[in-house]
Amino acid sequence: MSTSDNPWIDFPKTRPEKGLVEWRIPSLAVPGMVVLVAAHMRERGAGFDTVLSPVFDYWDGYRVFVPAGLRWRKAGLYTIRTCDEKVIGIEGLDVAPCIYCGKIPEIQTYDQRSPHQSGAWRFQCCSWGITPTMKDPREIEKVRRKAFSRAARYTCESGDAAIATRGEEK
Ligand SMILES: [Zn+2]
Repeated sequence: MSTSDNPWIDFPKTRPEKGLVEWRIPSLAVPGMVVLVAAHMRERGAGFDTVLSPVFDYWDGYRVFVPAGLRWRKAGLYTIRTCDEKVIGIEGLDVAPCIYCGKIPEIQTYDQRSPHQSGAWRFQCCSWGITPTMKDPREIEKVRRKAFSRAARYTCESGDAAIATRGEEK
């Protein structure tokens, strides 16, 4: 589903119906970062009322709050329990495939219930591809790409050395 036929909608203007939705949530923990998650709109008890709201809402005992700047759109195909959230991505962040297993790693957070409040992230694919935990996943990707380009340079250098050695043998 491309962005043009499935545009983001401002939550305060139009609210989604009950069911699975894709969300665009500005992070409260990492300035300038926008977290993309899939999570349900579901009914919840709010005082004497039942209201329809996203699973990552916040109930202060009086009102139900959602994060500022919240947007949503139709969800793709995901299997997610009503109480869970799945991190789909970080806006503007293109995660390179792992140089060991070739897969795009999963973006994980320790705060699965509210990724938009999390300042602890890591990427994981294979056991060689697991990254340390950092506050900002965009920084993790910078470090990965630097390491990958260094690894690629070593591969080229060893290739040149092999050619030089063969030349000397003549
Ligand atoms: Zn890997």
